[in-house]
Amino acid sequence: MFGLMQDQPLLVSSLIEFAARHHHDAEIVSRRVEGDLHRTTYAQAARRSRQVAQALDRLGLGRGDRVGTLAWNGYRHFELYFGVSGSGRVIHTLNPRLPPDQVVWIANHAEDRVLFFDMTFLPIIKAVWSKCTTVRHWIALCEADALPADTGIEGLQSYEAWIGRESGRYDWPSFDERSACALCYTSGTTGNPKGVLYSHRSTLLHAYGVALPDAVSLSARDCILPVVPMFHVNAWGIPYAAAMTGAKLVFPGPALDGKSVYELLESERVTMAAGVPTVWLMLLNHVREHKLKFSHMRRTVIGGSACPPAMIRAFRDDYGVTVLHAWGMTEMSPVGTVCNLKLAQRELDPDAQLAIMAKQGRAVFGVEMRIVDSEGKELPWDGQASGDLHVKGPWIISRYFKDEGGDPLIDGWFPTGDVASIDPDGFMQITDRSKDVIKSGGEWISSIDIENVAMAHPAVAMAACIALPHPKWDERPLLVVVRKPGAEASREDILGFYEGKVAKWQVPDDVVFVDAIPLGATGKMQKVKLREQFKGHRLPGA
Ligand code: ADP
Repeated sequence: MFGLMQDQPLLVSSLIEFAARHHHDAEIVSRRVEGDLHRTTYAQAARRSRQVAQALDRLGLGRGDRVGTLAWNGYRHFELYFGVSGSGRVIHTLNPRLPPDQVVWIANHAEDRVLFFDMTFLPIIKAVWSKCTTVRHWIALCEADALPADTGIEGLQSYEAWIGRESGRYDWPSFDERSACALCYTSGTTGNPKGVLYSHRSTLLHAYGVALPDAVSLSARDCILPVVPMFHVNAWGIPYAAAMTGAKLVFPGPALDGKSVYELLESERVTMAAGVPTVWLMLLNHVREHKLKFSHMRRTVIGGSACPPAMIRAFRDDYGVTVLHAWGMTEMSPVGTVCNLKLAQRELDPDAQLAIMAKQGRAVFGVEMRIVDSEGKELPWDGQASGDLHVKGPWIISRYFKDEGGDPLIDGWFPTGDVASIDPDGFMQITDRSKDVIKSGGEWISSIDIENVAMAHPAVAMAACIALPHPKWDERPLLVVVRKPGAEASREDILGFYEGKVAKWQVPDDVVFVDAIPLGATGKMQKVKLREQFKGHRLPGA
């Protein structure tokens, strides 16, 4: 027997209409490419999203057609999220930090018909437009008078002129909630990037999940600043979850340095921010150097790579800000786990709490997890055993776009490529990417553990631990360190710092100092590059 409730599809358009009706004057503030601060509201954003939908109709785009963006976090990008998906097309957020030939490859693979871009990226567009074989319309996110003449780009027009012709009176279409709404390519650390195609249903369920109190906890009392880019897994779903809850949004545009982010946090009274650890490193450095405090920010979501415990401690003890350590991936929309303490853990002493908060956290309802050994046998949740982490759920990938790579699932579970343990309370802890684990004498060394110790050293700005081949032990750890400006620390200082913090055999065999560690397009340390760079390095005793 079926239930007798209304069968209404979960569609992205309903989010912006809900926000417009119930939170019409909640603000969306954006630092623009033009340099100024722009203010709008959900009501206006909804009207302009409808104009986007009408303008796409006028271009003759069909259901399911892909619409690319190359843009920072800002109100126009936000409108496109709803206008493109709400009208039945698929928004494809391209990562402008990728090399231009990859942008071309991805746009062609996705068969983007229209491409929107911020003026910052005009040089990239000039270099790639003639090679993007399916794109017919290039739309610059600017006013008509800011559009430069003689760019040579065919089909170029300004966004404001393009939507300016439309009335904004539009009825969103209704269709199957399983229809695609957004496309995002993985960074392709191995081989060509692969497309992850989200549906309206998966996006709305994910937004519900993200907004839960034990996840990111969003509400109409919040003001949120996503530093995480809207071209990186839909800014972790925050634009959708913000519209669902009516939270005020603050978009930082291209200015992601510590000073600019801090100014926005203060002037807009931001209560919560979200970003990768490298961004928060810049922010912390800025506040420390200028002896500043956060007047309104109470929590910050940090994920994308492991957040060093030293950073969680600094935010908590020096600034009264709770770090919510989160884990996920493009294939998971992306949120899988978020670290929030349970009731009984609130009584623990601060150090014991910190040890929990440094974990990647508990699954959000909707995400199932398991850890398995090399034979696929499930491992216990005892906080000790670690194995390959598998996930499943309604916002987790079933196949890649155009079936690239074949069936990615194992018995219906998606293998994340991460190695993790899970404790009896359900707190998951990533020990490594499976390809980054260091296998020394039959034992595994977690590169993240080794990096976390180094990151607590006062002279260390950034640290990466990689495996080097070793004749006796198979592999041994090498620590690559970037010192803080002006800081002095020798190889011996750093190695001495490990005493008592990890087992003796886990201490790196050597330390090398570099000016910078290569970061990928999503701000993660590129260990493949580091392994290449140091493949000739001889470890002492090797
Ligand atoms: P890509 O896989 O394309 O590099 P993703 O953003 O999808 O980009 O990366 C997902 C991976 O990032 C995860 O599988 C995991 O290895 C890593 N990651 C994400 N969040 C964390 C975290 N909090 N701690 C450790 N690793 C993380």
